[in-house]
Amino acid sequence: MNTTFETDLVAKGYIDVAIDPNLDLVKEIERLKKEKNAVILAHYYQESEIQDIADYIGDSLGLSQQAAKTDADVIVFAGVHFMAETAKILSPSKKVLLPDLKAGCSLSDSCPPHLFAKFKEKYPDHLVITYVNCTAELKALSDIVCTSSNAVQIVESLPADQKIIFGPDRNLGDYVKKKTGRDLVLWNGACMVHEIFSQEKIDALRAEYPDAKFIAHPECEDHILAQADYIGSTSGMLKFTIEDPSDTYIVATESGILHQMQKASPSKTFIPAPPNNLCACNDCPHMKLNTLEKLYNCLYYEQPEITLDEDIIQRAQKPIERMLEISAKLGL
Ligand code: SF4
Repeated sequence: MNTTFETDLVAKGYIDVAIDPNLDLVKEIERLKKEKNAVILAHYYQESEIQDIADYIGDSLGLSQQAAKTDADVIVFAGVHFMAETAKILSPSKKVLLPDLKAGCSLSDSCPPHLFAKFKEKYPDHLVITYVNCTAELKALSDIVCTSSNAVQIVESLPADQKIIFGPDRNLGDYVKKKTGRDLVLWNGACMVHEIFSQEKIDALRAEYPDAKFIAHPECEDHILAQADYIGSTSGMLKFTIEDPSDTYIVATESGILHQMQKASPSKTFIPAPPNNLCACNDCPHMKLNTLEKLYNCLYYEQPEITLDEDIIQRAQKPIERMLEISAKLGL
């Protein structure tokens, strides 16, 4: 490799250097992990080879909570930028690394904090609930954070006359509105991965597999959710496929979760719900920027590191704590 600290971490693209093709990457990552007292988190939407070397696999908030409980000095978050930020909010004293700094999120990007702050000013008597899939800055503008598995219960826990802004995902917001009967003011954001499913192709698959259950994430559009046998978070969908007696499932979320579904239920069949393009399954292009090579480089150089202002950390911790308090009270 080059040096002068690898030509200033390849001119601040934060590294993209060739790796010796003979290197056993899995073994080297394991070695570096021990040497640096690091923990590797992999979101369910990561490539299977990354999931297989992770210490924890899961949804974004659950992963950050698990990492906070460890005595690791370094957290490597194989996921996207806002997830690594959440890990930093919950573990401010740990070094948090993201294998590819360009791993963003269309949903998080659909809600720029300065515009949301202006939007919020129009509703001064409203409480702000934000889905965890958003930037640290947006969390800092919120009263309560929620996840896709507790959004309905968090809203239901508030007094019936409490006015609420819900952001940034309009589909999850719509779903919560329907489930609770509450009139939420929605921010008009969305996830590109969950808005691309093809109704027509799903109908064709259901005709081909009439006994298959159709399961969907609440970030999907209303017309997709309307035909689902089960709606839930990624962890919820995984649990459902383990506990449910059916043999076949058509899965409407990012296709990375199929790896864990298949591992947990090897005799069952999992079919990714097809998108509205020529692909057979639905990958998040942001999530899939992470590779084993980038994970290795990230641990080796301890870059790119995610840093946040102390003020943002403290303000963003509060709505997360509020969610945890409500969840604890409700026994979630
Ligand atoms: S799947 Fe959607 S919400 Fe998740 S990281 Fe990708 S773009 Fe963002």
